[in-house]
This record gives sequence, C-alpha cells and structure tokens, in this order.
Amino acid sequence: VIGEHTDYNDGFVLPMAIERYAIMAADTAATPGKISLYDTQFKESATIDVSAPVTKGEPKWSNYIRGVLAGFQQRGVKIPALDVAFLSTVPLGGGLSSSAELEVCTATLMEAATGKAIDPIEKALLAQKAEHDFAGVPCGIMDQFISALGREGHLLLLDCRTRQTQLIPMSDLSVALLVINTNVKHELSGGEYAERRAQCEEAARNLGVKSLRDVTAEQLERGKGKLNEVVYRRARHVIGEIERTVHAAEGIRASNWPGVGNLMYASHASLRDDYEVSCQELDVVVAIAEDIGHQGGVYGCRMTGGGFGGCCVALVKASAADAISKKIAADYHAKTGIEAIIFSSRPAAGATIIKG
Ligand code: ADP
Ligand code: MG
Repeated sequence: VIGEHTDYNDGFVLPMAIERYAIMAADTAATPGKISLYDTQFKESATIDVSAPVTKGEPKWSNYIRGVLAGFQQRGVKIPALDVAFLSTVPLGGGLSSSAELEVCTATLMEAATGKAIDPIEKALLAQKAEHDFAGVPCGIMDQFISALGREGHLLLLDCRTRQTQLIPMSDLSVALLVINTNVKHELSGGEYAERRAQCEEAARNLGVKSLRDVTAEQLERGKGKLNEVVYRRARHVIGEIERTVHAAEGIRASNWPGVGNLMYASHASLRDDYEVSCQELDVVVAIAEDIGHQGGVYGCRMTGGGFGGCCVALVKASAADAISKKIAADYHAKTGIEAIIFSSRPAAGATIIKG
C-alpha cells in the first residue's frame, strides 16, 4: 500500500494481501520420488525429481517451486511424491508478487503434505531464499512476509531492519483498495534497480551511517553538501517514504482516509520526481485519480511495486469503487490506447491450508 524502495534501506513497508490467490490441490502421487505439477491456467506441466536434492530446472517457472522444495530439504524434510494441480489469479509480472505467491503457496502445501507447520516468519524467509537462489531475483522480504502472515481485514507494518511485524486493522468497510494494472512493463537495461541500491548505499556511506533508516530529514538537509544532486534526491525519497509509511499505518488505524490518501499521493510524487522509477502510464493513472478527487470518492493513488510499469493502488470509497473503476479505465484508454485491468480488494488473509 505504501513503502516503496524502503525495504533494502532497512525501512518500513506496509503491504496488504489482496483477494487474489494461488490454489494448489494435491494428492499422493502414483510415481514415487516425483512431484508432478500442472498449471491449469497456462496448461503447462512440470516434473520435479524429489528423490535427490532438488536443483534448478525447466520450465523456468518451476524454479520458484523447486527453490522452496530445496529449502525444506535443507531443513531435513523428506519431500513426499505428489500430483499437484494449481491455479493462480494474481496477474503475473505486474508487481503484485505472483512469484512470492507461488513460493508461499508451495511452502504451505509442504506443511499440509508433511503435517508439520513451520513458523510463518521462517516460511517467508525460506520462500525469499528460493527466489534469490533459484530465480536469481535479489528481492526484499516484503512480498513473502505478507503472503505468509497476512490476516483478513489487516495490513502488515513490517520493519525490514528488525523483521518485527505489526498487524494494522482496517476495519472500516466504507473504504477499499483498487488495483489498477497499467498493463505495461517497460523493459529497461535491468540496471535501474541495482543503480538505485548503489545510490542509497553511497548516500548512507557519505552521511556516515549504516543505512538510510538511520537518517532523519533534518540530518539529510544538514549533510546535503556531502552528496551529489541525484544521490541526494534518491536519499530524500527513501527517508521521506519511511516516514510516510509509519504515518500511513497510524492513519489507517485511525480511519483517517484523507490523511492516508495524501501520503499515497506524496509517495507517488516522490517516486516519480526524486527516485525516478515511475513512467508515463503510471503517472496518467495517478493524474486521473487526482482529477476524480475526494468528491468522486478517491482519497489517494500511487504506483506500487518496483516501478517502470505494473500497477497502481488507489484508496477509494467502497460505494464508489465501481464508478471509479469505469472512469479510470475509460480515461486511461483514451489517453494511452491501452486497456487497464482494475479490481477492488479488501485486506485478505495470507496462505492457509484448505482441507478437502
Ligand atoms: P511478480 O512477482 O510481480 O508477479 P515476477 O517477475 O517476480 O513478477 O514473477 C513473475 C514470474 O513468476 C512469472 O514470469 C512466472 O515465471 C512465475 N509465476 C508466478 N505465478 C505463476 C503461475 N501461476 N504460473 C506460472 N508461472 C508463474
Ligand atoms: Mg516477484
């Protein structure tokens, strides 16, 4: 919901699980030593040999699952042979973390199949390691944490430094979150993420601290002379965003929707101007939302995820959600020629076992 590019700066993030799911249905397999997977959406199969240490393999998407199985093996768990069918309703590659969804779903399936629950934080870390080692994505901890720890009707304030979590109730049924998928993903050289991380490290180093979490806005202003102009703006985003995230959690607790909405708009402006990870399509969505305004039922809107495409989230009056979705879709199409995919969600539960 808010807290972008704060995770690798030891800051706070405030995710929410959405009402989109991966479901895995499994039964004991006919062939021992193998897990057979069938993706019912893409009609693709994969077979994983679990009689030996699980390794990377084909197809590519199976690596998210392989990584999790390997994590269980490293904990001394014997992986049972299973036939698995699965379905996912999270858009892929849109910044809504279908990857973490697949990992945490697999880990939860393993809990069900072995009858042994693991601590949800350990589960999230195991899933993160799978993404690092098997998918080669050096992701933070947010996505896996919310997938594993999400609770219906709550957001999760996560301190990425201490890994302490706090459930933030969002009980006011008069508001909802809209997820607006711009349906664009600008392929960049791939170096943008690494470059931002390096700039944050440079800022922290020049300011004489371990990470930007240790710097206040005033300290940044006083130390401005030690940073080049771009690095200063990167740091200003991170430091401001950490503060906004903590304030947004307070605002949600207090059902102060205009206040939370303003923090979302400020977050977007900062990502666009200081961190420079937005794009035209994301900016168009936020401009449309601002145009609809409080009178039309929109409190706030921002890009979500790493940037350069993907999704926006908007905080809206639940009673106006349908009308707002239609208006955003129409205006976005008129301005960009692209069809957006929009759905609304209340804070949902993380992964659970459904017994058949
Ligand atoms: P995000 O996590 O934001 O959706 P990523 O690029 O991290 O984007 O992960 C997307 C990748 O996850 C897909 O390219 C695919 O390999 C894999 N994936 C996730 N869910 C599924 C699924 N249901 N079926 C096949 N692959 C999936
Ligand atoms: Mg991902």
